[in-house]
Amino acid sequence: MTTTIQPTATPATPVFATVPANLPENTIAVFGTLGGTVVALTKDPETFRTNTAAFAWVCLGCGSQSAYAHPRETARDSANGHAGQCRSLPMPPAPAPILAQVEITSFGYLHGTPPTAHITVDLRHHYRDPHVRPELRHLTAHDQTVRDTVLGTAGIPALLDSLTATIAAYAAGPRTGPITIAVGCAGGRHRAATVAAELAHRIPGATLIHRDLHQSVVER
Ligand SMILES: [Zn+2]
Repeated sequence: MTTTIQPTATPATPVFATVPANLPENTIAVFGTLGGTVVALTKDPETFRTNTAAFAWVCLGCGSQSAYAHPRETARDSANGHAGQCRSLPMPPAPAPILAQVEITSFGYLHGTPPTAHITVDLRHHYRDPHVRPELRHLTAHDQTVRDTVLGTAGIPALLDSLTATIAAYAAGPRTGPITIAVGCAGGRHRAATVAAELAHRIPGATLIHRDLHQSVVER
């Protein structure tokens, strides 16, 4: 005798869309979509007092929209219908571009006073120094091996992310003008130059100066 075990139907997992902050200004209702975004039912603020067909919808997931030419019930039903079919997933918000002028300087503490800057980053004590490896000592951040070593150091990727966020926070302040960042390590040839160059790469339009990269190796 064989026993057949009937699979139990898995109940559909409901998706609860959260109401996003970027709804159109004239939204009067939102419908959660299948994919977890929303369809916003909107009224045309210019014409809705005189025109009974002044309603429309826009899907914040896939971007579909209707024209402002529907009676309220028609627009609502059509918005609800789209929400029941749209599988478009919510997109992560794009980081705001940094519009301020950003000037990045790498330097070595062994070669003199740090340059004046709004943000000074000292990499000397907490991040491994490629200088201690003889095969890297006479190379610089211009060499891929050095860049790979520095960018592969634990903590450096997170530091780059947080520096980018810090610069964006300065750029969001009410005062304009260039934002200056100085990145230092012992000799200024490996860690500081690599981090400064990677930071400049992440911020379109940033200027980059390697103050001490071409200095000769300090024996220590
Ligand atoms: Zn959609």
